[in-house]
Amino acid sequence: MIPFSKPVIFKSAEKYIKDVLHSGKLSGDHDFTKRCNAWLENRAKTKKVFLTTSCTHALEMAALLINIKEGDEVIMPSYSFSSTPNAFVLRGATIVFVDIRPDTMNIDETLIEPAITNKTKAIVPVHYAGVGCAMDAIIEIAKKYNLFVIEDAAQGLMSTYKGRTLGAIGNIGAYSFHETKNYSSGEGGAILINDDKFIKRAEIIREKGTNRSQFFRGEIDKYSWQDVGSSYLPSELNAALLFSQLEMADKINKNRLKSWNYYYTTLKPLEKKGHLELPKIPAECKHNAHIFYIKVNNITERSKLIKYLKDKNINALFHYVPLHGSKAGKNYGRFSGQDKFTTIESERLLRLPLYYNMSLSEAELVCEIIKKYFVKGG
Ligand SMILES: *Cc1c(COP(=O)(O)O)cnc(C)c1O
Repeated sequence: MIPFSKPVIFKSAEKYIKDVLHSGKLSGDHDFTKRCNAWLENRAKTKKVFLTTSCTHALEMAALLINIKEGDEVIMPSYSFSSTPNAFVLRGATIVFVDIRPDTMNIDETLIEPAITNKTKAIVPVHYAGVGCAMDAIIEIAKKYNLFVIEDAAQGLMSTYKGRTLGAIGNIGAYSFHETKNYSSGEGGAILINDDKFIKRAEIIREKGTNRSQFFRGEIDKYSWQDVGSSYLPSELNAALLFSQLEMADKINKNRLKSWNYYYTTLKPLEKKGHLELPKIPAECKHNAHIFYIKVNNITERSKLIKYLKDKNINALFHYVPLHGSKAGKNYGRFSGQDKFTTIESERLLRLPLYYNMSLSEAELVCEIIKKYFVKGG
């Protein structure tokens, strides 16, 4: 069986987790959390990074930080995960979905401006498959209308747009370290504070609305309730697992890219024959091989191919069912303009198995079976 994904587990993870167990300090913000935060700040070249319990929670923190309230509108693509809108819906916002670009599956930056009203508060670009959105254009629109940019960079660590790390470009960014992402702590995430003015409050919101972090640093002699907040800091055990991977991030990235590039070159002839489409990476983007997808003719063909692969023990998966057509999406959002690509393109997309240390023979087998399906008609 070739799985769709596999968690990365290095020997060092066992040692680090043992270190935490023996340290007697299992709650958050001890040594490993600090090392992860510092590693991420250095890699993303941003002011401040805090580990969180998930990307979902990092997005919720962002919504609190920019004071989203009842009646505000937030613009995002419909091709994303429920966490992207939920963070803002929890604060009473209405979601305004705009169409995606068929080449990257990212928000179409040219459709953002027409979706802006006097209630718009923020734009939330989602960097699908770790491929950057058109951030220059998005930042320019945000400046013109005085909006916040919150990057859902759940899939974006180690990817860049014009040399800048995804997640570190907007006012605030969010990473995911869920098991299915390139770097993982089981469940986990991080918030990137790229704008100085949010740092102090982010620390308080993350610590149940208290200034306990300042107290631990010896800056004040007692801590108390200061603001709204929640429990957004992960245990040291999660941080230890994550750190074992972050310190190997370049190796993991290179390894994933090798499989990604193998898929790309091996399936290229099928694209030339018109059987499928391969991902397109804009010249200004360097990606992290988070996802390798192909696009087939339509949803019927995709279902057939998924079954064909499954019968040969290969696990390929489709991805997001567009948010705007879902039950909650209809309740909490509206689509601005026309759904020209979101539904149709999402129905064609199929993700192939990709994980750290995927062997060449595994990738070969996947490609061979896909070739067989198209060339020999299955
Ligand atoms: C994975 C993912 C999330 C959620 O991440 P969690 O860490 O599981 O909360 C949010 N948005 C996108 C685009 C994702 O891929």
